[in-house]
Amino acid sequence: MSKSAVTCLDHGKVIQAFCATEQQLLCIDCIIQQQILHKTHVILSIEDASAHQANLLAQNLKKSQKVDSDIKNTINAMKAELLLAEEAAHSKRKGANQLF
Ligand SMILES: [Zn+2]
Ligand SMILES: [Zn+2]
Repeated sequence: MSKSAVTCLDHGKVIQAFCATEQQLLCIDCIIQQQILHKTHVILSIEDASAHQANLLAQNLKKSQKVDSDIKNTINAMKAELLLAEEAAHSKRKGANQLF
């Protein structure tokens, strides 16, 4: 197999098109059964979809990387706060030790 054929999870048939509106891969059965549903949706041929999906994947990757850095920032902020709290507690203890 030079080209790995993507098959429909519902029908096990080769994917023919891609619904850009729902981000859903469609086999011939999907298209026939859901043609009314997808009538107003943007349907791409599988060739177009591959390029489209590659773009989407790149976008999602960027998004997840952004989320990752957001989480890291939050964690770093929390760590900094924790450190400050620890330091404050430590200096209080020090002060208490000096009193006794
Ligand atoms: Zn199908
Ligand atoms: Zn659709």
